[in-house]
Amino acid sequence: MSHLQFIGTSSALTSLKKFHSSFILSTKNFNLLVDTGDGSSRALLNQKIDFNSIDAILITHLHADHYCGLPSLLTQMKLLKEPRKKKILIIAHESILDVIQKFIFNSMVFEEKMGFKIEYKNFSWEKIFSINKKIKFLSKKNSHLNSNLLLKNVRKKKLSSSSFLFFVEKAKIFYTSDVGSAEDLYLFKDEKLDLLISESSHINYDDICIAEQKLNVKKFLLTHFTDEVENQIKKKISKNKNSKISLASDGQIINLS
Ligand SMILES: [Zn+2]
Repeated sequence: MSHLQFIGTSSALTSLKKFHSSFILSTKNFNLLVDTGDGSSRALLNQKIDFNSIDAILITHLHADHYCGLPSLLTQMKLLKEPRKKKILIIAHESILDVIQKFIFNSMVFEEKMGFKIEYKNFSWEKIFSINKKIKFLSKKNSHLNSNLLLKNVRKKKLSSSSFLFFVEKAKIFYTSDVGSAEDLYLFKDEKLDLLISESSHINYDDICIAEQKLNVKKFLLTHFTDEVENQIKKKISKNKNSKISLASDGQIINLS
């Protein structure tokens, strides 16, 4: 049976109540971890997830709450009582994979010393990427990092942030990742979705409710919120009895088949 487990649901603001947004997509023999923000090793320990059960890691964009825990997580895999032997696959958009590779290398995580292979694969927007027979995704560029385009000395190519339509066996899941505006909620508007996971820091709850009406979604979960926003949204959800929208929580498991 395939499932999704939230590892963290916090925004970029560090919280003592929850970890930065991340989840695992699991099929019978494969676990894909989506994002490894600051503290992600602790977040996984908190959910009693064996580091070495992770087969692949997908990075959505280069913000600290989404990728800065990666070298540390790889280091944990080596330090375990039974050190990792099997390879780990790291996946990111073609415009940023080199940054991740350098970040890992410059964190002194050298493949020859790790005892396992680190394989890197990049994906392109608007093209299906098959991880294996059971997990695929289609990714599209979103506008999350566009507000940086006018800043000085910014490498525009690296302002790359992706949203994902995951195909996990028969389930279709739209994960917005971090977005720039409510328009990004409609990147896969023609799809019949089993699950929509939307971030909730860069869009307001009213726009999320409009999207719920317009999109064909069975289940709608929110992640990436501060403790303050969590309380505000909880109140709004409790007044909106017909809504399918709910707040995700660290550790929550959603069955997909
Ligand atoms: Zn974020």
